[in-house]
Amino acid sequence: MATQEAYVQVKDLKKHYGDGDARLTVLDGIDTSINRGEICVMLGPSGSGKSTFLNLIGGLEDADAGSILVDGCDLTVLKPTDLGEYRRRELGFVFQFYNLVPDLTIKENIEVTAHLSKKPLNIDDLLRSLGLYEHRNKFPRQVSGGQQQRCAIGRALVKNPGLLLCDEPTGALDYKTSKEILQLMEDVNRTYGCTIIIVTHNAAIARMANRVLRLRDGRIVEDELNESPVAAAELDW
Ligand code: ADP
Ligand code: MG
Repeated sequence: MATQEAYVQVKDLKKHYGDGDARLTVLDGIDTSINRGEICVMLGPSGSGKSTFLNLIGGLEDADAGSILVDGCDLTVLKPTDLGEYRRRELGFVFQFYNLVPDLTIKENIEVTAHLSKKPLNIDDLLRSLGLYEHRNKFPRQVSGGQQQRCAIGRALVKNPGLLLCDEPTGALDYKTSKEILQLMEDVNRTYGCTIIIVTHNAAIARMANRVLRLRDGRIVEDELNESPVAAAELDW
């Protein structure tokens, strides 16, 4: 549930790729503040820098300039070991194509990250809440795309992270399954209180957000609080 407490604070964040004629400025001074417990949806066309933004917040890439404070701690000045600790302790990542380990079962894929936390969730309880308990001994290829994404969410969640970063989490799923996954995220936000950032090019998803960010030409052109988010089950597109 959204609070008034700033949790992720991004200030004048800049990132480019390449040099000379090939230089591409992707983030050209991003400022925003996301409160603890919010569901934040970032919209923007393909190539607008959404994944780059998420990777910077996730400590997967280095910024050129600016700061990223998560829970008051500036990622851009952390030593690599501390950045690793931040990723293990604070962060869950969910991707469009699930990125499960094919040779591990559904349960094993979730167990993989449990030990990274001092306070992991109970895996069987988590499997039940994800609707995966009866599929726990199957391999990823033996379950549907939606179930694979549930498993990926479970892998991110089992550490009990403060921040869940989701990069086009429904991009590979059909309409009905997409809505089920978004409902699951809503449940996760409510049950575990984690702050969720979802990047997507699907504008309809923004209706379930507490905060909507719109990225264009390397800048945030809209940063709006949504006082009455729509339940994921009611979304339509
Ligand atoms: P989005 O997720 O909104 O589609 P990205 O953040 O993936 O956008 O990419 C933004 C731009 O940066 C794109 O033009 C993309 O080609 C470019 N880009 C992304 N990653 C790299 C990289 N590692 N090297 C060079 N260019 C990149
Ligand atoms: Mg992307």
